[in-house]
Amino acid sequence: MAEQETDEREFIDDTQDADERERAHRERGTVRPITVVGNPVLHRECADVTEFDEGLAALVDDMFASQRAASGVGLAANQVGVDLKVFVYDCEDDEGVRHVGVVCNPVLEELPADRRVLDDNNEGCLSVPTAYAELARPDYAVVRGQDTSGKPVLVRGTGYFARCLQHETDHLYGRLYLDRLSKRERKNALKQMAEGTPRYETVPNES
Ligand SMILES: [Zn+2]
Repeated sequence: MAEQETDEREFIDDTQDADERERAHRERGTVRPITVVGNPVLHRECADVTEFDEGLAALVDDMFASQRAASGVGLAANQVGVDLKVFVYDCEDDEGVRHVGVVCNPVLEELPADRRVLDDNNEGCLSVPTAYAELARPDYAVVRGQDTSGKPVLVRGTGYFARCLQHETDHLYGRLYLDRLSKRERKNALKQMAEGTPRYETVPNES
């Protein structure tokens, strides 16, 4: 039996009115350029969100606008240069259902060893433009955190959405998916990035 069928806690419904909610956020927001691998803000743990105020709401709107402009399925605050533990997502699960939401101060729950089924699909990251690599990750994920008003939330995902929840939580602890690859795969991904041209605005790294 799948883990999600045995977990009876209350999870947020992030599928209702997904289109409308995503559009409302991004229409209020401003597109910001995306930071790329090598920028220090991506390689250290972000600060906890402690103020659930208008500033946070505005940041989330900007993140939705930026995510859409870059055709992303998830975006962490340090990817727009902000040192705060918050990520947004707009991602389909393995059944094609669209999930739209925000998580502040996310913590990824450990799965029991007998529930860990690995999925080794391709993964990419807006902060490593134009590169992709296969990366095995559990095909189910639960993230605990808070919404933009500070209320506790539980989010769960399967398939590609599970991958997204793990990837975005990693970002806020200073980890890129590159850090989970072998040296050789990492080198290959960086080569793809060096040879490609992103279709969205990025923040140049200081050399
Ligand atoms: Zn990423």
